[in-house]
Amino acid sequence: MSSKIVLITGASSGIGAATARRLAIAGHHVVIGARRADRLEALVLELNEGGHKADHATLDVTDRDSVSAFVEGAYERHGRVDVLVNNAGVMPLSPLASLRVEDWNQMFDVNVKGVLHGIAAALPLMKAQGHGHFVNMSSSLAHYVAPATAVYSASKYAVRAISDGLRKEHDNIRVTEISPSFTESELLQGGDPDTMAFVQTMADRFSIPASTVADAIAYAVDQPADIDVSEIALRSRAEV
Ligand code: NDP
Repeated sequence: MSSKIVLITGASSGIGAATARRLAIAGHHVVIGARRADRLEALVLELNEGGHKADHATLDVTDRDSVSAFVEGAYERHGRVDVLVNNAGVMPLSPLASLRVEDWNQMFDVNVKGVLHGIAAALPLMKAQGHGHFVNMSSSLAHYVAPATAVYSASKYAVRAISDGLRKEHDNIRVTEISPSFTESELLQGGDPDTMAFVQTMADRFSIPASTVADAIAYAVDQPADIDVSEIALRSRAEV
């Protein structure tokens, strides 16, 4: 299958938007989702005017019904769902002692429950069609914890665990976990101001382009059907 139906959550900016561009240019049909409809519309227009296949629907990954509508709508329009890139995420970092409980809840709602909602929507369709591929956006912070990253790291450790379990439970479903470190995007918003200012200095030094992460996702998507690219980790050489 050379041209796949690829759904991408969190495609209104950053890694998701770069992945949509990369996969559409490779000949896949991308269905992009996020909350900011104006961003999605502009990206679809850009891709369609370039001769590429793309459509969009707004979604909020914290809402199971919204994710179901996004996935089922794509299935109805295109007849199959080959790949779901569970990319939407937030990272309002803070030390635990600051008790930013709303931020903790948001990170679990978007980063963990958002991925689970994607699986709940797409897995039955993929099982019925006999194939499917989940690309779950993890992080270098799914592999270690730094001060102020405990809750975000926990959310991404959870994505690792869910990805591993999903792979082990299904023979004909491919599961790829992507673990980038600092990447150019709009991720650094909210959180504890001092923490986020420090993280911004690190991001300024070490960020890799979002298109590099998109290339890694394209590599996993374009492997033969019997190859599971289980994990790809990426970081700037300068950060090592
Ligand atoms: P961006 O902030 O640029 O992109 C995040 C995307 O998630 C946006 O499109 C946003 O769209 C979407 N999003 C946020 N909340 C929701 C929601 N409730 N429902 C639907 N979509 C939502 O950051 P990145 O591109 O960096 O983030 C993409 C993924 O990469 C995240 O999972 C992040 O954790 C991960 N990551 C990023 C790294 C980095 O350094 N940038 C490093 C490692 C991992 P909208 O606001 O329009 O809904």
